[in-house]
Amino acid sequence: MFARWSRLWNDRRARVAAPVPQAIGDAAFHNTQSGIAQWDAAECLVAANDRVAAMFGLRRECLQPGLSFRDFIGLSVETGHLDGRDADEVYALAMPLIRRRTPVTYDEQLSAGRVLRVAYRPLDDGGWLATYEDVTEHQQAQAQVAFMALHDSLTNLANRALLLDRLQEALARVGEVAVLFIDLDRFKEVNDTLGHRAGDMLLRFVASRLSNSFRQSDTLGRLGGDEFAVVLTPGSHEAAAAAARQIIDVLGRRFEIDGHDVTIGASVGIALAPADGADRDTLVKNADLALYAAKADGRGTFRFFEQTMQDRLRVRRALETDLRSAIALQRLELFYQPLVSTRTGTVAGLEALMRWRDPDRGMVPPSEFIPVAEASGLIVPLGAWSIERACADLALLPPHLRVAVNLSAVQFGSDALLPTVRDCIAAAGVAPGRLELEVTESTLMHDTARAVAVLDALRAEGVRIAMDDFGTGYSSLSYIRNFPFDKVKIDKSFIDDLGQPRGSDAIVRAVAGIANSLGIETVAEGVERLDQYRRVAAEGCDLVQGFLFSRPVPLEDVPRVVAAIDAGAVVPRSDSARPALTVVGSGRNHVLVS
Ligand code: C2E
Ligand code: CA
Ligand code: CA
Repeated sequence: MFARWSRLWNDRRARVAAPVPQAIGDAAFHNTQSGIAQWDAAECLVAANDRVAAMFGLRRECLQPGLSFRDFIGLSVETGHLDGRDADEVYALAMPLIRRRTPVTYDEQLSAGRVLRVAYRPLDDGGWLATYEDVTEHQQAQAQVAFMALHDSLTNLANRALLLDRLQEALARVGEVAVLFIDLDRFKEVNDTLGHRAGDMLLRFVASRLSNSFRQSDTLGRLGGDEFAVVLTPGSHEAAAAAARQIIDVLGRRFEIDGHDVTIGASVGIALAPADGADRDTLVKNADLALYAAKADGRGTFRFFEQTMQDRLRVRRALETDLRSAIALQRLELFYQPLVSTRTGTVAGLEALMRWRDPDRGMVPPSEFIPVAEASGLIVPLGAWSIERACADLALLPPHLRVAVNLSAVQFGSDALLPTVRDCIAAAGVAPGRLELEVTESTLMHDTARAVAVLDALRAEGVRIAMDDFGTGYSSLSYIRNFPFDKVKIDKSFIDDLGQPRGSDAIVRAVAGIANSLGIETVAEGVERLDQYRRVAAEGCDLVQGFLFSRPVPLEDVPRVVAAIDAGAVVPRSDSARPALTVVGSGRNHVLVS
């Protein structure tokens, strides 16, 4: 090392220093962030600025005019700045570029991950000007941008775009590929109850458990929300099934989030190439269909794609198309089913139930078309129509009768709901208290704070709110306390169970008792027989709805049906299980006096 230094020092002799290359102004030469060095036709240094020394870890004195380019490289290798490379090799690579006598730029990898952008520009005297720019940060930022464009920022997994790319590549490379779509089963509940931060944390945990379950060669990605996907290459039927079992197993284990024990679970849909589709888009679509079927099967299961899933989708699409035209052609009607008071034995109100009368399909039941309307968004105009129709019909009914309209969760989430309700009541000129809106627990579950606000706003309009299908959800009893209901409808499943050993008698009694103490009316749904009627009346239900009294009927049949029930044709007046009570006061604070 010392020998080389002294030799370099002596080499200075003949050269007269020309500190600043002619091509560059003095200020620019010294002040720039770039390293600049001018070399002559004999490959000897004419001048270099301090940045060059700093970039290659050289002492300033080394860069004296006359230093040969080969020695400059040698010194840089010795300081360890050229990443342990061989000086001869670096020289042998650089010289052909310089001798080309056209400007060239390339990136030189330095030690410690640093990157120098090197540019050689030929000069008229046969020499060249070299500029060096440290682009490490710039490159890192670019790499970061490139990474972010292809990865999900929350989990660092591949995003949808990258996953699809990898799938495309895999299809071109190998014959057998499996695409697994994964959906978390109870993610929404965690997000809703523990908050978004906990939800994000859970997604990261899920990502890391999944990452640990797969090989590097398999691409794991997050498609968005709580949906993940894996591309297995090669992906046989057996390998895919094993992977799905593994996914369901690892995601079914307990997570600890913010001190809470959280158990979710996962459903998996699988499509295999080439059997289920040779191209990317078909495979993705079919994996999605399989996932949909897996979810419909219940939680924690996986399904392979089957052609029948495709057929079902086609049937559904056709139904949606027909529903659209049914709406346009006004083929939808409201039927009405009476709610009968157990106290008086007379009709207190009616529930409006939608009917679709189709010339080809016949009567399509709401259980078939409401889900399609919800999935397609058609439920918003359809629901608005039913509110409008019900209000108009209310105006034709005797003033002591109320009408209840079902609200879907999608409608409930729409800002149009409140103005629609207000306008329909006003247009029909009916008392707002005669309109009742039925909501289910699932409607309220998604965003409880907003749900309470919407219910309060509706009640402020004077509209009554009923909780439908009570008991089929999760946290039923707390819902009665936390939401402003006027009425609770106990689900048919409890009524079916009455009188059985370990039947639901006690549950019905408890619900009726709690509701009563809170001033909330109770309805027993789906009462088909007289014995059921007697039981629910004895347990304290205020109202009864069911085929025992009447099936849902068109508006024109309502007067006849109501008159028959009121006259005691179904349940003789004497059969009223509860002693006659007199209502003192009104609304939520009513007091019952025997
Ligand atoms: P739901 O709101 O629980 O309505 C009660 C359902 O039970 C009605 O079925 C009714 O015909 C049926 N039902 C009443 N009494 C009895 C009985 O004694 N035995 C039996 N087996 N069934 C009885 P429907 O009309 O087929 O409606 C089914 C569901 O479709 C409704 O359940 C409701 O969730 C939905 N739906 C109906 N109309 C509308 C609507 O206008 N908007 C929305 N969003 N949903 C609606
Ligand atoms: Ca209902
Ligand atoms: Ca119901």
